[in-house]
Amino acid sequence: MTKEKGRSSIVYSDAVLPILQGRIPGQLIIQYTDVCNALCPQCSMRKTEKYERSKLSKEEVCRIIDAAAEQKIQALSFTGGEPFLFLDELIELIQYASFKKIPLIRTGTNGYLFSNWRRQEYVYEIHNLAEKLARTNLRNLWISIDSADPRTHEHMRGLPGVIRGIEIALPIFHEYGIYPAANLGINRNIGGLGKISEKMIKQDEFYRESHEHS
Ligand code: SF4
Repeated sequence: MTKEKGRSSIVYSDAVLPILQGRIPGQLIIQYTDVCNALCPQCSMRKTEKYERSKLSKEEVCRIIDAAAEQKIQALSFTGGEPFLFLDELIELIQYASFKKIPLIRTGTNGYLFSNWRRQEYVYEIHNLAEKLARTNLRNLWISIDSADPRTHEHMRGLPGVIRGIEIALPIFHEYGIYPAANLGINRNIGGLGKISEKMIKQDEFYRESHEHS
């Protein structure tokens, strides 16, 4: 509340004003790309699906962000597909949204980068990634997780080793003030598959089984 020449006035933030007007603060989800490198059987964007893939251009996304800023959108998410496949441009777009003063900027990954944890440069690469993200105003980073059982999750995604890579990466992210969240996919395998049969170890059989019993 502020006083002006004997009368009181209240200044509300852009986040509060819509609530007082009976609206929720706007949020915008930009599906930046449908390119993906994972094999999730529940998703039509899995990498084996045959259709023409695309990505919004940087200029298109900047125009969308301009309009969002004008509309006082409070939350903006970049999704995919797998947006981290275009990491440098994604970071530029997060920077642009920060510059346009969008308060809550979010993005996420299927975690494929973390399946590289056996590489000698892995720790260095994660420091590098965390440092780049920490330079932006990114508010939330989610990592999608499909099952409480690591082996099931990795099998569903087609990303062997990704859970170990996440374990190594998390403390590094924390050093940079980034606290990734788990984006939980609710599906029949969330509690684990139990024993994955030898047949289902083959990804195409796993996919067939998942769909035959849908
Ligand atoms: S990572 Fe996401 S976009 Fe890619 S196949 Fe899995 S659910 Fe679909």
